[in-house]
Amino acid sequence: MAAQPVNVLITGANRGLGLEMVKQMVEAPCPVRKLFACCRDPHGPRAEALQALAKKHPGIISVIRLDATDLCSIKDSAQLVGSMVGTGGLNLLINNAGMMAKGTLRDTTPEDMQSTFNTNVMGPMNMIKEFLPHLRAAVQANGKPGMSCNKAAVISISSVLGSLDLVKQTYALFPAISYRISKTSLNMLTACAAEELKEDGILFSVLHPGWVRTDMGGDAGEIDAPESVQGMLRVIASLTEQHNGAFLDYKGKPVPW
Ligand code: NDP
Repeated sequence: MAAQPVNVLITGANRGLGLEMVKQMVEAPCPVRKLFACCRDPHGPRAEALQALAKKHPGIISVIRLDATDLCSIKDSAQLVGSMVGTGGLNLLINNAGMMAKGTLRDTTPEDMQSTFNTNVMGPMNMIKEFLPHLRAAVQANGKPGMSCNKAAVISISSVLGSLDLVKQTYALFPAISYRISKTSLNMLTACAAEELKEDGILFSVLHPGWVRTDMGGDAGEIDAPESVQGMLRVIASLTEQHNGAFLDYKGKPVPW
């Protein structure tokens, strides 16, 4: 995916889109330098496929424990990653981990709301804050003008369900109100980070992966994970400062806010 080897971190890397991203990144003709594949339980049964992949690519994939709802685990992983990348920094942080609670306004519980917000919004926000020194180090090490995912970027996986403009078309089909509110918030977080940190040279964007057949997307999804990830990695590789704060789908098409 990259013109020069870069250091990448992906959250929720043990299954679904996150695992497929790890696969495609290490199998690309120009692979990554270091890939930090984060998951909640690296030694549990849900991480077996990821561990098998890491075994095939020693020295490139590091499986790291990270729970997006646990600030201590985010701080620990930031410290560990910092010690492994040094002054080269972290070039690309992908906030992929996410959860979806289904439900309308009437049946969504405060617990659904809280856990979805903690995972889908507080997680990415704490990731940005804790990994900022390593993203800044990558900007320093790169030394070139402009913005790109080879230099320093945070890409967060959002959803068309977070789009305010598209609610009328999509609400009846997928109410998932806590999920929608969380993804709208993630979009705002990204727009704010893009604005606040533009002088730092770090690019921030949100991507919609399509409706994908994963545990979350279900069997009725429109595409499989390999197609979604192929598209997203192509889009990620093409991003420049013009896309700072952008909301794009896996084909590179702007999504209405
Ligand atoms: P999956 O449900 O298949 O995978 C979700 C991943 O997130 C798992 O690795 C899961 O880990 C991880 N995760 C959940 N909660 C946490 C947490 N607290 N800390 C760390 N990791 C966590 O979903 P997808 O792969 O389909 O989705 C990936 C992203 O894409 C999500 O952000 C989702 O909202 C977004 N998306 C997906 C769409 C789709 O159609 N599939 C459509 C639009 C957006 P664990 O195994 O431990 O549960």
